[in-house]
Amino acid sequence: MTETAPSKVTMEKIVSLCQRRGFIFPSSEIYGGLSSCWDYGPLGVELKRNIKEAWWQALVRERDDIVGLDASIMMHPKTWEASGHIKGFTDPLVECKSCHLRWRADELKDTRCPSCGGELTEPRMFNLMFKTFMGPVEEEASTIYLRPETAQGIFVNFENVLNTTRKRLPFGIAQMGKAFRNEITTGNFIFRSREFEQMELEFFIKPGTDDEWFNYWVEERLKWYTKLGIKKGNLRLHEHAKEALAHYALSCTDIDYQFPMGWAELEGIANRGDFDLVQHSTFSGKNLNYFDEESKQHIIPHIIEPSGGVDRAALAFLCDAYDEDIAEGELRVILHLHPTLAPIKVAVLPLSRKEKLAELAKKIYADLRQCWIATYDDAQSIGRRYRRQDEIGTPFCVTVDFQSLEDEQVTIRDRDSLKQIRVPISELKNTLAAKLSGEPLFVLPPGGKIWKE
Ligand code: ATP
Repeated sequence: MTETAPSKVTMEKIVSLCQRRGFIFPSSEIYGGLSSCWDYGPLGVELKRNIKEAWWQALVRERDDIVGLDASIMMHPKTWEASGHIKGFTDPLVECKSCHLRWRADELKDTRCPSCGGELTEPRMFNLMFKTFMGPVEEEASTIYLRPETAQGIFVNFENVLNTTRKRLPFGIAQMGKAFRNEITTGNFIFRSREFEQMELEFFIKPGTDDEWFNYWVEERLKWYTKLGIKKGNLRLHEHAKEALAHYALSCTDIDYQFPMGWAELEGIANRGDFDLVQHSTFSGKNLNYFDEESKQHIIPHIIEPSGGVDRAALAFLCDAYDEDIAEGELRVILHLHPTLAPIKVAVLPLSRKEKLAELAKKIYADLRQCWIATYDDAQSIGRRYRRQDEIGTPFCVTVDFQSLEDEQVTIRDRDSLKQIRVPISELKNTLAAKLSGEPLFVLPPGGKIWKE
């Protein structure tokens, strides 16, 4: 039996779990860490890959109207003039005259330093792009930037993709990859870091169909998060006021998530109008337009952009999945991760290390690994081993016991309900495949039975 413990997810608990179990570590930790950079450990890298896979699957693989792209991180410096980043990708920075800490002026509630109460300087605009040099000379002419968003790689390839895929409007180009921002203030773990990953779709449409496609993409993106397990009550839409819009946007709605520190942006959906294609046409001298067969005219498509962060999504999925209860008299930490996102799908646990049992369990393990990321654990009591898997979100444990040697059956234990079924080993793979796709536990394969209700 489980009962709910009076606890709530906090950022401290998430950070501690992530470090304890190898999801996420501070970058360069042996040197004291590098501020606001993070390394994904063995479980974190799987979680992150699963998030990206799920996004790619939903946006590229399952649709005819979107294609993928992987553009380079370093781009021609003119890109950033055209996009407006050199002039306008800035935040107002103030510095404390006493302790010299720096703050984002627009995030301060007070006119004094939040750390020591000291007097602050006048705000100056601070550009968030990381600068570096290309080639062996460090001079102005060779200055380039690490991309602060992946979107521009898509706009500059608009013509290439159009010409090579023969896509007609409306169609989209999707890309995910690293982006870099020299944020003035970072924090809240992986919520805001200086190196992060984005998943961006630029959806090109006929002008005049903006509202229809904008609403469509807000709904689609909301559905994507809830389908992967995020509770509806922890998501909300936040429409930006006209005066708060970024320089390129005609409208913007954020999907906010209720993080432990409060509601904050998870993903933004913007109507970028024709801003980007017009700018890049002007700066490159190329005509980035589209011949509309219907009207027999050249038009400049408008763009609807859903832009999300992989790391923010990972944090939201972790926070949403985190739970504690009392199972068999002990505190149990569980990650109710959706099976699609869980780093490990199944754990094989022999009840004892005795040779005969281990031999059978290892055979089963080797077989399951052909299909899913699986793990094998024979250390400590079975209860401990179940809890180790619950804590990292493994949806199912397969237990091999002495009876298995005789009846050629094993038990499958469900992480969320703690219920168990017993199935013939010959049916194990099919049964797990069905359960991982959402079939209720008590739908049994031939020869299967309910083991623990
Ligand atoms: P914020 O207002 O939180 O700084 P933003 O509006 O500048 O975000 P966008 O430029 O719209 O963010 O970027 C799209 C997405 O990229 C965000 O919704 C977020 O998920 C992610 N993102 C942006 N900046 C960061 C960052 N510094 N660290 C992690 N993820 C980020």
